[in-house]
Amino acid sequence: MDKMMESIRIEGKEVELQAGYPVRFSCMEHLEQELDDYVNDFETAPDTYPAQAIDDSAADKRCRVCGEPGQIALLKEKGM
Ligand SMILES: [Zn+2]
Repeated sequence: MDKMMESIRIEGKEVELQAGYPVRFSCMEHLEQELDDYVNDFETAPDTYPAQAIDDSAADKRCRVCGEPGQIALLKEKGM
């Protein structure tokens, strides 16, 4: 289930997210697949950050594909 958030803290800075675009996480192994899925699902290329840059402790940082700890966050910043 995609988690929708209005904003997320990235490296201590509050970043507003584009409405309707979820924050997803991926391990390195599944990154290419997740990038493809994001583009297919939302018709836009996501912004990517290292998962450890995401401060939000509420975020589920597991890889969407395999459930392993995610390395990369895929999200859509407002106005990007
Ligand atoms: Zn994975």
